[in-house]
Amino acid sequence: MKPMLDELKTILKGEVLTDKSVLNKYSHDASIYELAPSAVLSPMDSKDIENLVSFINAHRHIYPSLSITPRGAGTDMSGGAISDSLLINMADHFTKIHSASSNLLHTQAGASIRDINPLLASYSAMLGCAPTSHAFCTIGGVVANNSAGEQSLRYGNADKSIREVSVVLADGKEHTFGPINKRELQVKMAQKNFEGALYRRIYSAVEENYDLIKNARPKTNKNSMGYNLWTVWDRDTGIFDMSQLFTGSQGTLGVITDIKIAAVPKAKHSGLLLIYLTSLKQLSNIIPIVTSHAPATFEGLDDITFNLGIKYFKTLKKQLGVKEWTKQQIWLLSTVAKFKSHLPNMLLMVEFDSNTPKETYDKIVGLQEDLAKYHFSVQTEIEGNEAASAPFWNIRRAALSFLRNQSHGKYAAPFIDDMTVLPKYTAEFLQKVRKIIRKYKLPATIQGHFGDGNFHIIPLLDVNQAKERAKLEPAMRELVPIILKYGGTMAGEHNDGMVRGPWLPAVFGNEMYELFKYVKETFDPQYIFNPNKKTDASWDFSMSHIRTSHR
Ligand SMILES: Cc1cc2nc3c(=O)[nH]c(=O)nc-3n(C[C@H](O)[C@H](O)[C@H](O)COP(=O)(O)OP(=O)(O)OC[C@H]3O[C@@H](n4cnc5c(N)ncnc54)[C@H](O)[C@@H]3O)c2cc1C
Repeated sequence: MKPMLDELKTILKGEVLTDKSVLNKYSHDASIYELAPSAVLSPMDSKDIENLVSFINAHRHIYPSLSITPRGAGTDMSGGAISDSLLINMADHFTKIHSASSNLLHTQAGASIRDINPLLASYSAMLGCAPTSHAFCTIGGVVANNSAGEQSLRYGNADKSIREVSVVLADGKEHTFGPINKRELQVKMAQKNFEGALYRRIYSAVEENYDLIKNARPKTNKNSMGYNLWTVWDRDTGIFDMSQLFTGSQGTLGVITDIKIAAVPKAKHSGLLLIYLTSLKQLSNIIPIVTSHAPATFEGLDDITFNLGIKYFKTLKKQLGVKEWTKQQIWLLSTVAKFKSHLPNMLLMVEFDSNTPKETYDKIVGLQEDLAKYHFSVQTEIEGNEAASAPFWNIRRAALSFLRNQSHGKYAAPFIDDMTVLPKYTAEFLQKVRKIIRKYKLPATIQGHFGDGNFHIIPLLDVNQAKERAKLEPAMRELVPIILKYGGTMAGEHNDGMVRGPWLPAVFGNEMYELFKYVKETFDPQYIFNPNKKTDASWDFSMSHIRTSHR
């Protein structure tokens, strides 16, 4: 390996790092897995990545397991951003934001959402698919995972926002993909090169299997499993769009270098109606009423998560600054005091927005009155503006970090962390999930994007213990049919990676799984991009790379 890595250093303008401390740092993402890379590369530009792919193609006969895995901020929860070969760090030099406007962002893939957000805000705009992890992650990771977040109730996952992607593919060249019409498609398919073959093969697959593909998409608003074949070809409009395939591809088809993505309007004012439930059963009555009011966002968390938020709110002092933190802490405690230490079972956060404080307030009151009209025995409370809402949003957004603080030798173990079902079945679904959680003794909290039926259920486990590890497979096996019964998917936004890749046939059936493999092999016939993930994942490989270190 060393001579090969030395040669690589002469080819790339960017860094090729092999120090043990660097390899150790990059051997984890936010998943339950670990893989130590042989080197971490920081390409300077697309030419560097093109040269790297050509280099791999030329050296594969000597080093058959040589591969590349792109990485943004490494916050992936499925094991998508780790590699036992070459890891490409896009967050170092691919950070240029080319342009922004009120409706479009054009940026390199490694730009962080933390930098993008204020820029778009200056145009009264935002990303419709920014995840809750927006303080850390990159736009390339958002697109490659087909991420979604609070705003996705209105704006969906990244696939709804993507407009164009540039990608370095297995032929060692950068290509640009976006929507094209039938005439342009004919021209592309007539090309006698790698790109022409891609268009021919993908077009024939989506045309010949049109109904199978459309029917296989989970019925939920959100999905980030599989390859995004459902929206590549629309017979009615005659639009063919291969950029769709890269949303959710997790670096398994190529390295995304450049992105054009829609920006959506950011309202001037927002506020929350907090709804406190005493029982999960109340969700079946409440969800349809809440959604009929078309809120901007609709999130929720259980009492354990809310309690952890109160307990660990102190950890946000540095992030918020002492003055802001003190204000929010007082506000939060005054809310909690109303419950006299008996917090309700579940807290729902329903957000409304508009361009005037009055309109926002009226919308919140509209829902509150509607709930009262139906005599639901729920307590509600108005946090009518951004300042009053802030502590609740901070708890919701930091919920996973709070969970991690609670370790005592157990760690947040994301494996059933992103199940998504049709929201009307939420109450039934959560009751069934709770039974399985109890059966396998998986101490887990529930939080998530309730408006989309998307739940983050993250058990606390010590997955290094064989007894604990042995729970993962049977628990997932029992959950799949329940999710399918309620029109859902195992991943609304966290994708497949190593943890859900092996479950693709169970969720989508063998015919669709073969189509997913066909996509992988069309783009990456030699499997040089991010192996052991998605269609190439195997449960045995994943289980043999369970994370051993947690700090
Ligand atoms: C606390 C916490 C909260 C989270 N909340 C959410 C949430 O609300 N919604 C949500 O969707 N996700 C969430 N996530 C998961 C994760 O943060 C998102 O999926 C995020 O978009 C990943 O971005 P990243 O830059 O960290 O990507 P990484 O983790 O670095 O990579 C993610 C995947 O994309 C691939 N990739 C990265 N860059 C490129 C590129 N340039 N070209 C090709 N492939 C690439 C990687 O190979 C990997 O498979 C959360 C994670 C944490 C830890």
